[in-house]
Amino acid sequence: MSNWNSENLKSRLPAIYTLLIQEMTDCGLFIMDLEGVILSWNPGVEKLLGYQESEWLGQSGALIFTPEDQAKNIFQAEIRDAIETGHAGDNRWHVRKDGSRIFVDGVLVAVRDERGLILCLAKLMRDGTSRQISQRNLQVIEERFRLAREGAALGIWDWDVLADSIDASESYYRIMGMTVQREPVNYEKWVSLVHPWDRERIALGTREALETGDFDHEFRVTWADGSTHWIHAKGVVQYANERPVRMVRVLRDITAQKLSEEALRESEARNNAILRASLDAIILMDQEGILQEFNPAAEEMFGQSREAVIGRPLADVIIPPRLRQQHCEGLNRYLATEDAVIIGRHIETEGLRSDGTEFPVELAVTRVPIGGAPLFAGYVRDISERRRTILALQRSNQELAEFAHVVAHDLRTPLRNIGTYAQILIKRHQASLDEKGNEFLSVIRQSVAATQALIDGLLRYAELGEVELTRESTDMTAVVNTVLNLMKSSLEAADAKVIFSDLPIVESDSLQLQQVFQNLIGNAIKYRREDPPRISIRSRRSSDCWIVSVRDNGEGIRPEDQERIFLPLKRLHGNEIAGTGLGLAICRAVMKRLGGRIWVESEPGKGSIFYFTVPHTSLRQRSTKEQDLGG
Ligand code: ADP
Repeated sequence: MSNWNSENLKSRLPAIYTLLIQEMTDCGLFIMDLEGVILSWNPGVEKLLGYQESEWLGQSGALIFTPEDQAKNIFQAEIRDAIETGHAGDNRWHVRKDGSRIFVDGVLVAVRDERGLILCLAKLMRDGTSRQISQRNLQVIEERFRLAREGAALGIWDWDVLADSIDASESYYRIMGMTVQREPVNYEKWVSLVHPWDRERIALGTREALETGDFDHEFRVTWADGSTHWIHAKGVVQYANERPVRMVRVLRDITAQKLSEEALRESEARNNAILRASLDAIILMDQEGILQEFNPAAEEMFGQSREAVIGRPLADVIIPPRLRQQHCEGLNRYLATEDAVIIGRHIETEGLRSDGTEFPVELAVTRVPIGGAPLFAGYVRDISERRRTILALQRSNQELAEFAHVVAHDLRTPLRNIGTYAQILIKRHQASLDEKGNEFLSVIRQSVAATQALIDGLLRYAELGEVELTRESTDMTAVVNTVLNLMKSSLEAADAKVIFSDLPIVESDSLQLQQVFQNLIGNAIKYRREDPPRISIRSRRSSDCWIVSVRDNGEGIRPEDQERIFLPLKRLHGNEIAGTGLGLAICRAVMKRLGGRIWVESEPGKGSIFYFTVPHTSLRQRSTKEQDLGG
């Protein structure tokens, strides 16, 4: 061989290349035409891919590409690239004749003649599978440490599949509620620690993971102390020569998260139950005015199905056309200024049924307390029945008032006659009557007076609903002064003293207030003890009204009677003290009409405090003033 000179060698180079290529069995080389059709190859190709040369000659080189890459025309793109730039990389998974996959480190070269014309395409390739796998292993390890770094709350579970031995981090044992074991556990032992309800699922998931490469499951374990914990395990599988050799899992205790999910589910279930069972229509609307929820009661009330209305503007569905603009303006104003006319209140308005009819509803709207964009909940009650009842009641009240009127007038005349004739008898025949006769006449006169008072009281009570109320600026101090003037003689006779201060100026009906004060002061005098009556009138401002109190030092009222005394004709006293039992009933009816209420607090033997409320206005309070009367 030493006789070879370089000239000699040069001439034989093509043959040497051919020999070398035949010997290079670890590398595959094949020649293709510009269409990618195989023309020739070396034995290395057969070793890498498992095809005989005869099986493949004349076929397209695309054959070894994976179906995914074939669908993406990767082979054609590679040829284009090589023709344009001279060469194209081919580093990807390919498919062997037996269907298994091989990672190829390859290059496709466009071979040119001395004039630069492309003669053919040559692909040179090497098996890069093990390099690829070790790269994946590296990823596994990196993933393991990345996850481990995320916190000590993570446990690492490392299964050597071939040796069936599991190595676990200390935190893993903590998560599983076990004491740390120094000896590795095997898979069977491990899976027995999983809660029986989840065991089969996890065993199946593990078998699948060995094939797919990924494990991602949640399962329960029972700790040594008997408590149940939820674990989330995420794992990757490592392969050697296509065989799973190792699975690494990272575990996390997710019990707290599960419990809050559970709580959430429970609260959703509760809310759903409320929505379904509610007799009121419950409607949710977002800030755009779009319907988000429509419960069964709403479906029935408005004659619309939930499916048909969710996602539609609420205004179009359940609000009569004439009220829609008002609704939209109210919503926009609230969104701009948070100033709401209806939020937190009960209002009466009209609803619209799917057949176009309108009906009266009572509506309460709240803003649902959740973060983010506002959501509004409306509770709607059909009050058609209530309206009908009120109308009927008003009608019958009116009829009753008319009837009372007629009866009272009819009774008044004969009563007046009885009174008048009793009077005449006393005037003309007193002398001719004995003592008993005169006594009887006096009883007749008293009874006539009491009956007259009763008829007047009943008439006032019956007519209360009809009386037109005025609402004007009313100085309560002036009202009390008027009452005290009217009652001057009875106050003086009883040696009564009335003090009052800080009485407000209110927007109300002065005559009605006068009537209330008159009744309360009158009662304070009537139901006194032996001491002279001491009456004190005060007021204080609360968030939405004035609270006025009238305190006396009278005999007081037992707790069980404190509510009854406001009923018409209810008296705690007999005829020894004159009265009709209508005074407080009239006070209650008046207060109701004025938008307030009246009640009493009392201790028998110590006196009573009657309270009533008057909705307040921004009007100022008068300066303190005291007035003594009758003392
Ligand atoms: P009348 O005074 O005409 O009987 P009212 O309706 O004003 O009717 O009062 C009902 C009853 O309540 C009275 O009969 C009396 O028994 C009791 N009552 C009212 N005010 C007082 C008071 N200030 N102190 C004690 N008892 C009272």
